[in-house]
Amino acid sequence: MDFRLSPEQEQFRDAVRRFADKHLAQGARERAHAPGYPWDVAQRMAEQGLLGITLAQADGGQGGSLMDAVIAIEAIAAVCPRSADVVQAGSFGAIRVLAEYGSALHKKRFLAKLLSGESVICVGMTEPEAGSAVTDLATTATRDGEGYRVNGAKVFTTHSAYAELILAYVRFAPGVGGIGSVLIQKDSPGLRIGKPSAFMSGEEWAELRFEDVRVPADMVLLGEGGFKKQIAGFNVERIGNAARSLALGRYAYERARQWAMQRRQFGRLLCEFQGLQWKFAEMKIRLDAGQLLLYRAAANADRGFPSAEETSIAKAFCNQAGFDVANEALQAMGGLGYSQDELVEYCLRRCRGWMIAGGSIEILKNRIAESVFERSFPQRG
Ligand SMILES: Cc1cc2nc3c(=O)[nH]c(=O)nc-3n(C[C@H](O)[C@H](O)[C@H](O)COP(=O)(O)OP(=O)(O)OC[C@H]3O[C@@H](n4cnc5c(N)ncnc54)[C@H](O)[C@@H]3O)c2cc1C
Repeated sequence: MDFRLSPEQEQFRDAVRRFADKHLAQGARERAHAPGYPWDVAQRMAEQGLLGITLAQADGGQGGSLMDAVIAIEAIAAVCPRSADVVQAGSFGAIRVLAEYGSALHKKRFLAKLLSGESVICVGMTEPEAGSAVTDLATTATRDGEGYRVNGAKVFTTHSAYAELILAYVRFAPGVGGIGSVLIQKDSPGLRIGKPSAFMSGEEWAELRFEDVRVPADMVLLGEGGFKKQIAGFNVERIGNAARSLALGRYAYERARQWAMQRRQFGRLLCEFQGLQWKFAEMKIRLDAGQLLLYRAAANADRGFPSAEETSIAKAFCNQAGFDVANEALQAMGGLGYSQDELVEYCLRRCRGWMIAGGSIEILKNRIAESVFERSFPQRG
């Protein structure tokens, strides 16, 4: 067992870091406070080969591994936390599910634009009455001639305010077995995009309402019985979510560490007070522990999908660790940490959201408990 990155991985990390230092350091603060998507960053990353890292070369991707994509998130977030979302959108989330399960037509029609950084795909699972209990989703796809009519609503969907393509979880029939997914384009008649709302992070989301949206049969991604496959793919999204939690926690830690070595109070540097040293030691322990869990889940996935158990453990730990570390880093920086002049408060706000998004920490712990006791625990009363 070797806990170090391989020479190729180190080279890749250093190259991404150089790219980030050159192109993303300037404007990092402004990007964090801008509500929309950083399209300029996406297009630059596309040119640099940082979109589609985990997609096969035959699909226009880089043919890299999930570990490569995690390394890219870490290297980018260390310079510009907001830009790490672009790596996520280009390699982890719905785009990866589309590349895995999509037909030749889907790939031909959508992948090139997504990989060029000109458009983004969002995944609509959550509904007003189906959050953690996602299999309660009520958006229906009803047979209509050669295709389907989709009716229902999705909430809290990341990128929903500007995504050109929606991967929507829908119900073809009752029960878990009746769930699948369809691809819906933004300009589809009957799709209503609500007024943008904002998360605590400042990111925009808008309600997606489907009113008799016509979906041709060839725009079904996964038909009836597709739910398990969909969730297997969703574990990739969770790895990216865990990686960003940890990377933003690390960003905050690093900034606070630098501050503690230059800020003086009572005639001494902050880092000379034991009360703060122990905080930093604790932060370091949590970051390193999270990284090992994250790397285990990502590296074991090789080029396939990560294990549900390892992903749940990594995400639950990294979500909590990222938030706790960002919180302690903020504390160690005093008023400056709480100020929007620094990105530490932004990292804290972002990390808070990932404790809920993509499977809350509680839901992940439910999944881990099933592995612990080797049995399922249905949550329904
Ligand atoms: C930043 C952010 C981005 C998001 N992006 C997307 C997206 O792109 N696409 C999308 O579809 N959705 C997205 N979501 C929605 C997210 O998936 C849901 O918010 C999440 O699944 C929880 O659902 P809920 O908000 O309805 O809370 P609820 O399900 O109502 O849960 C409320 C609380 O109860 C807890 N709880 C519920 N059931 C149990 C249980 N059985 N055991 C223990 N605790 C339980 C939850 O953990 C939570 O703390 C996003 C959310 C956030 C915050």
